[in-house]
Amino acid sequence: METHLADFIKDTPEGKEADEILRRCVHCGFCTATCPTYQLLGDELDGPRGRIYLIKQVLEGTPATAKTQLHLDRCLTCRSCETTCPSGVEYGKLVDIGRKVVETQVGRSPAESLKRKALAVGLPNAGLFGAALTAGRMVSGILPAALRKKIPPAQAASPWPAARHARRWVVLDGCVQPSLAPNINAAAARVLDRIGISLMKADRAGCCGAVAFHLNYQDEGRDAMRRNVDAWVPMLDTGIEAIAMTASGCGSTVKEYAHHLANDSTYAARAERVSNATKDLCELLGAESARLTPLLEAATTGRPRRKLAYHSPCSLQHGQQVRGHAEALLSAAGFDLTYVPDGHLCCGSAGTYSLLQPELSQQLLANKVKALESGTPTGIATANIGCLTHIQSGTTTPIRHWVEWVDEVLGGH
Ligand code: SF4
Ligand code: SF4
Repeated sequence: METHLADFIKDTPEGKEADEILRRCVHCGFCTATCPTYQLLGDELDGPRGRIYLIKQVLEGTPATAKTQLHLDRCLTCRSCETTCPSGVEYGKLVDIGRKVVETQVGRSPAESLKRKALAVGLPNAGLFGAALTAGRMVSGILPAALRKKIPPAQAASPWPAARHARRWVVLDGCVQPSLAPNINAAAARVLDRIGISLMKADRAGCCGAVAFHLNYQDEGRDAMRRNVDAWVPMLDTGIEAIAMTASGCGSTVKEYAHHLANDSTYAARAERVSNATKDLCELLGAESARLTPLLEAATTGRPRRKLAYHSPCSLQHGQQVRGHAEALLSAAGFDLTYVPDGHLCCGSAGTYSLLQPELSQQLLANKVKALESGTPTGIATANIGCLTHIQSGTTTPIRHWVEWVDEVLGGH
């Protein structure tokens, strides 16, 4: 598409990047068919092609309006459109740029600003979030049902094997996962310990930066990224083989640190090193199948296979373009995966989306639960804490991270 970006942005790094992305779009509209919000709302401006037009107009000098902001706010940033696009349009990067410009021009009401600021500050702080979660559990009886369903029961931390192997990976603890589901990383550590790899924590690492960044606190998001780079690079220097992600939403962001910090001359090279060393746990374990598969075969011989539905998070299948690894590991662990219709569609969690766009989020959740339960599974597996808690709020079928199912097969703790 032809572009004529306005003077205020055309010579900036963001302007040049947006221009390159926009020029790749050929208006074909293939992406529209696989966009969850277009499917719900039926409005071209609530689909990727329409949003691309809106961003183009703003970057070419048409002032943004509250309506422009609404259509961009309704986008889940699920990046299903990127998977569908035959021209390689990097919509996710474009919408980051567009949202920032629109926010600058349109602003937010004081109440909306306060809500977004509270989320940008509170969620990435593991201590604050843990305290808020504990308080929420104590008063859950008086909370509205919609909020109560989002608070999972407390989960005791399970054993984490001592570091005893020469081979070591480091895992991101993250911000909300340690409070919501501490068993996930412990389960990963136990599975890895069985195949001769020790999983380490990096005490100085924290939130990946995605929460603040996607709420348009981009500077704060980049600060979190720099802190993690500072925490991980010295560990890579000591021989840590990989940075493992057990939350695909975080993994999607960490793999893009090189992009987010490309214009920071102090951090660019180290951020690239971190991105290159980062993999989702399913990718890393998939490459260790020669060691893991015999253990799974021994553990499952003579046992009946169980039916499980797998929800592939958007951040894994679209954001990272990673497919098939978790499914193969679950299959090797004795699970038959049921067919899940519309598996490419978002569950409605999408970072803070379920809190900021609750109506659309709940519609997507209802559709997702129906699809996941259509094959009558005994449980559900996924790969991202946000999807896990969101989907669990809409069903009584137990949902766990896939590595927790694998760990259980191997004997758990
Ligand atoms: S990121 Fe998802 S919701 Fe947003 S335009 Fe693309 S497909 Fe639609
Ligand atoms: S599929 Fe790609 S090229 Fe076609 S309209 Fe969508 S973003 Fe543009």
